[in-house]
Amino acid sequence: MSVRETATRGMSATGIASAYEMVVGLEVHVQLLTRTKAFCLCATDFGAPPNTNVCPVCLGLPGALPVLSDHVVDLALRAATALDCRIHERSVFARKNYFYPDLPKGYQISQYDRPLATQGRLTVENTAGYPESTVRITRVHIEEDAGKSIHDRFAAASAIDLNRAGVPLIEIVTEPDIRSAAAAGAYLRALKQLLEYLEVSDVNMEEGSLRVDANVSARLPGATTLGTKTELKNLNSFSAVERALEAEFARQCDLLARGQRVVQQTMLWDGGSSSVRPARSKEESHDYRYFPDPDLPPLVVASDRVERVRRHLPELPAARRTRYREAFGLSAYDADVLTASKSLGDYFEDCARLHRDPKTVANWVMGEVRAALNVAKRKIEDFPLRPADLAELLDLVAHETVSGTAAKRIFGLMLETNRGATEIAEREGLLQVRDDSALRDWIDQVIAEHEHEAARCANGERKLLGVLVGFVMKKSKGSADPRRVSQLLAERLGV
Ligand SMILES: [Zn+2]
Repeated sequence: MSVRETATRGMSATGIASAYEMVVGLEVHVQLLTRTKAFCLCATDFGAPPNTNVCPVCLGLPGALPVLSDHVVDLALRAATALDCRIHERSVFARKNYFYPDLPKGYQISQYDRPLATQGRLTVENTAGYPESTVRITRVHIEEDAGKSIHDRFAAASAIDLNRAGVPLIEIVTEPDIRSAAAAGAYLRALKQLLEYLEVSDVNMEEGSLRVDANVSARLPGATTLGTKTELKNLNSFSAVERALEAEFARQCDLLARGQRVVQQTMLWDGGSSSVRPARSKEESHDYRYFPDPDLPPLVVASDRVERVRRHLPELPAARRTRYREAFGLSAYDADVLTASKSLGDYFEDCARLHRDPKTVANWVMGEVRAALNVAKRKIEDFPLRPADLAELLDLVAHETVSGTAAKRIFGLMLETNRGATEIAEREGLLQVRDDSALRDWIDQVIAEHEHEAARCANGERKLLGVLVGFVMKKSKGSADPRRVSQLLAERLGV
């Protein structure tokens, strides 16, 4: 035991953890956005009745031969290129042998010592308060998914659904470059965002399109060798990843501080009790007995194909954030929020092209639109107001045809009734009233109803002017022009 380790004895749990450094590497399995499986023409649709999307190839029946889908290669290349990887001209499919009921062939087709791509990186920008960092990508390879076992505790039986067997995945593995649970979360969010922009996956975690395993170890700061790692599984959200890393790191630190050893094993996260527990002991990769799949020729990717993929990469999140700051004059924060998903950014841009003031569009999209989406639990793609509808409303405000207050009401009514902003403004009498005689009528009524406040205001309590303007606005159901009301009231009360 080192001096440092002795010194940590008897410290609190947080004190112990702070004496060590967390070292994390992540493995992310991503389901590719294809209509058919990787090596056969079976459909990939989620939620189909069990065992309906199957054929002799993905069932592993004797004599059936797999044929690699070209689309799978294109999507994998797109992800690997955007992750700055070295793409290998020649990669090899291997059989990863293990016995499990949901694996009909008795092996999984994967890539082992000759993966599609290696040596990439992902820069995690300075968002949400984390410093910018670069995480090195060890490898990106193509593989197929296994089926799904469904365990029924009450019937004491298990059932198998093989619809998922053969669905195409890529696995993205990082170097152990991540130093905190928060940094792991930031990396995962950046990766998810990148994959969504690339349109290589629907990145839907609830449906298992994005699955994360985390390798974590602890070491003393300044140490150059890695400690013994454990692998965390059963992580079904990014917040579960962060919480599981904290829990497992604390467990390891506690062992090390007491002079005990960390055993290399797989740990399962239990979100209910916020704790980790050991699973089966960690199988070393050589136990899987990988060997090249004799049914599949090596995958050869010509350099001009890679070049074509590179040329056709869409605008990526970092470039879009910069463009929003420069072309629309938005703050870094606004640019982050609006680019969080590609579709939200598309919505903002379509609207900003129609309405002249991008900052106003940004405020409405980040405020009212996002709030309405949250309430309705909807995605922006399914939002009933199209960018042109919102632009029409914002034009009415810009031309002072309706007030800002009325605009919020009109927005709500647009969602309820599916009618246009101008039509609603006319129907509901929300067109801004700037006719002095109408405004003076309302002012007279308000002064009569709030004599006391009006008198105090006339006697110098100027802050009450705003209150009285508010009463007039209310009386006009938001249709009065508040600036003109304020002027007329001030004249009337002589302040
Ligand atoms: Zn099939």
